Formats: sequence, structure tokens, C-alpha cells
Amino acid sequence: MKQISFEIDGKICKANEGENLVTAAKKNGIYIPVLCYLEKHECLGTCRVCTIKIDGRSMAACTLIVQEGMVVEVNSAELQDLRKAIVELLFVEGNHFCPSCEKSGNCQLQAVAYAMDMRVARFHYRFSPYSINYKGEKIILEHNRCIHCKRCTNLFHDDEGYKVFSFVNRGAKTRVTLDLKREKLLSKAKLEEAKNLCPVGAILLQGDGFEQPIGTRQYDKNPIGIIGD
Ligand code: SF4
Repeated sequence: MKQISFEIDGKICKANEGENLVTAAKKNGIYIPVLCYLEKHECLGTCRVCTIKIDGRSMAACTLIVQEGMVVEVNSAELQDLRKAIVELLFVEGNHFCPSCEKSGNCQLQAVAYAMDMRVARFHYRFSPYSINYKGEKIILEHNRCIHCKRCTNLFHDDEGYKVFSFVNRGAKTRVTLDLKREKLLSKAKLEEAKNLCPVGAILLQGDGFEQPIGTRQYDKNPIGIIGD
């Protein structure tokens, strides 16, 4: 495979031709935070937490393929603050109470906030009155925590290849919803896949709670942003 050279914050980096910028940066020891992006999956480009600059223009790194000679700005003070502001906006838009969340320690939003040293949001909390959807036989949708990343709607399929999650409504009223006929047929493995695909604690499983003690979970042991985790 053809190798190309590009630059991040003055460091000469190598990548395979056609490689995604987030993945290529990671291989070169540079962490670009993401919430919607998953390696080896279609790029969603929804959260913008991976915002970087090329030629002075802000772009979502997960939407970019590295090019020969590309010059990328990732960790300037301005970009670090801008990405942190995006994460803070996610916190104030929803209702995220980490100590009582089943996903604490496995939550990517929480882990990214820690990596950015976020203490408290600079914006006013909206405290929007979201509901919790208990209509599914096996899945609970906790709308307070959904960041509308589209992982579940775009990347999750049941064993027959059908989508189970979709969005309803528009704008601030947008909510994830379930195909109830397909949801009740999901296997244990598929349910776990859906739960783990969600970067926050918005997809929960009925009867599944705090089986793994807090303090022993994924990001408790390996904080996000340390390349190699
Ligand atoms: S439920 Fe989870 S995976 Fe689905 S859009 Fe919301 S945050 Fe993303």
C-alpha cells in the first residue's frame, strides 16, 4: 500500500493512502477526540468534537482522508478550547448526571470531557424535560443522555440486516425511537452490541444494571486520549 507524508502541528506523519485522518493521527501518536466516529465504519460527521483546521478552515477530522503534503492543525489553544466548548454544549443540552448513570466509566462523552479537563460548562444548562422511553421489551431509551450521534440509527442492524433505531421529529424535538417489532426479536449479543455502540448511556437494557462495578470499567482503567488504549 502506498505511503504518504503529511504534517500535524509541525510533526511529519506517515499514513497509508486513503486512511482516515483520525485513524492516521492516532497511528502517529496524536489523539483527536471523537464521539460519533468509529474506525472501520461509515463516517457520520455529526458531533464535530474532532474539529481541526486545514489552511485556516475548521473541519471535522473524521470526514477527511489524509492527502500527501496535507498540513493539519490539531492542538492549538484555540482548537482545544473550541472542541471543549462543543463537549460543554452537549452537556448543557442534555441532562447528564454521571454518578447515577449506568454507563459511567464506559461513557465516551464522560471520558472525552475528562481528557479535555472539563470541570463545568461555560454555558447555561438547559435542563430540558426529556422523557425515558420504556416501550421496548428489552431496550430502554434514556433521552436525557442522547447526543444524537446517529451511531444507532446508521450503524446498527439486526441479524436480518434491518435497522432498529431511527429518528422522529425535528430540531430540538428530535428523538431516537425503536422499531418495536424488531427490537423484541434481538438476541442478547445484538442487545449488547446496541448498548456498546451508544457512546453515552442512552441505550440501556432491561434488567441490566451496574453488573461491572464503577471504578473497574473501560475508561476508569484506560483514560481516553492516551494513545495505545
Ligand atoms: S441513542 Fe446513543 S447511539 Fe443513538 S443517537 Fe443517541 S447517543 Fe447516539
